[in-house]
Amino acid sequence: MPASRELLELQEVDGDLAARSARLTEIDALLGDDSALRALARRLRREQAEVDAGLSRQQELDAAVAGFTEKVNAAETKLYAGVIMNPRELRDLQADVEMLKRQRWTQEEALLETLVGLDLARSSRDASAQQLETLKESWKAEQKSLAAEQERLRAETAALVERRGGLVARTPPPETALYEQVRKSRPQPVARMHNSACGACKVGVPSRTAQEVRSSPSPTRCPNCGRILLPE
Ligand SMILES: [Zn+2]
Repeated sequence: MPASRELLELQEVDGDLAARSARLTEIDALLGDDSALRALARRLRREQAEVDAGLSRQQELDAAVAGFTEKVNAAETKLYAGVIMNPRELRDLQADVEMLKRQRWTQEEALLETLVGLDLARSSRDASAQQLETLKESWKAEQKSLAAEQERLRAETAALVERRGGLVARTPPPETALYEQVRKSRPQPVARMHNSACGACKVGVPSRTAQEVRSSPSPTRCPNCGRILLPE
């Protein structure tokens, strides 16, 4: 009879080790990965730049409007001061005032549009800033929990490796060697036989093989899937 209990336990330990190893690989990739944070920070910087551009555009337009107002006031003062008597000169000056007012109006329209845009840009920036703060908090918490999980999995892995060492020491080397060989193609290299069929691939085994599984001192393999068959 092969070392059934040891081989099955070995398979169980290897399964546990594989699961931990897979999760540790995932954790490795997640730990320190702040790409989402950095992407959001980049967006925030872009949005801040838009706000800054809007503010400087607003300043330009404010200055332009103020400049036209100054010119309009000067022209109107001249117009109503009563010093110009020539009707043609008066008409020309009146026309100048109207033109200056139209030019100012164009700048005021642009200013209004800029203010609306600035408002939207500020809203987006504030929303991103808020989102970034929230994400930073959840990221920190997630990293902390991943680090704790990593520590736990490493400790469990160390314990499993030790347990595996004990099992291998108790299993005859040819059986361990066969186990390792089958494991290269089958993650679960051991199967129990049920009703003269392989418990893993479910294919029935010839009665001579079934007999061998029950009585042979060395391991017998499933003729179909190649796993090491253990008596039921
Ligand atoms: Zn099989």
